[in-house]
Amino acid sequence: MPPESVTRFAPSPTGPLHLGHAYSALIAASRAGAGRFLLRIEDIDRARCRPEWEAQIFDDLAWLGLDWPRPVKRQSERMPAYRAALRRMAAEGLLYPCRCTRADIRAALSAPQEGARGPDGPVYPGTCRARTMAEARPDDALRLNMAAALARVPRLSFTENGPLYPGMHRLDPDAMVAGVGDVVLARRDMGTSYHLSVVLDDAAQGITEVTRGADLFDATVIHVLLQSLLELPRPSYWHHGLIRDEAGKRLAKRDDARALAGFRAEGASPQDIRAMLNL
Ligand code: GLU
Repeated sequence: MPPESVTRFAPSPTGPLHLGHAYSALIAASRAGAGRFLLRIEDIDRARCRPEWEAQIFDDLAWLGLDWPRPVKRQSERMPAYRAALRRMAAEGLLYPCRCTRADIRAALSAPQEGARGPDGPVYPGTCRARTMAEARPDDALRLNMAAALARVPRLSFTENGPLYPGMHRLDPDAMVAGVGDVVLARRDMGTSYHLSVVLDDAAQGITEVTRGADLFDATVIHVLLQSLLELPRPSYWHHGLIRDEAGKRLAKRDDARALAGFRAEGASPQDIRAMLNL
């Protein structure tokens, strides 16, 4: 781990932080070592994000003993950067407008030979792929033409430092066309997407190691491709295991029983939380 590592914890303020978030934040902070640990608020989903959840995030993280530079970056303030990247990729012929609903996609996939699932769900069948940006309407989603994008970049790889999938991972273009497909880079309701925003923000914040849950490992190939298309530096990655409840189920924000605030209210200390997480 180089001493100048810059890591981040990037929660979405859509509910209370639970044990899994504490785990993620504490790992990010420890991986920063003598470098810097940043907090970023991922609030592009305006319909689901609430200021009171954001306030609770600051409160819970400070209680855990974490500290981070202020002011924090918020994705909702970064729309001009997201739009500029979309314009660039559109000008390079890598995007097309899509107006398929989920139901349209399900119907198009009902043929028995189709139906691969990628990081964002069913692989898009390509219904709108022939449409050009000149035909885009303001409420269309924008998709990345995966085959065209991969044709523009050299063979890509990324380094995973975490214990689950350690080593260098090469991107396999055929597997990405078949198993990831034309992902949405601008959702119709948001004008951007998790993939695009996270890549641009990690670069803008100088993140050198992305630490996050193993549920996002499969999305990393999308991020590495976008970094190459947008000529951004490539961080290394550390994907950690997910904290599960007694039944082995992944914790979700709605599982309020596992909320840090709940443990705090019952008198748990930050040391108790670390012990529960085997940290
Ligand atoms: N905002 C994402 C989440 O809350 C994390 C994204 C990331 O770490 O890349 O799950």
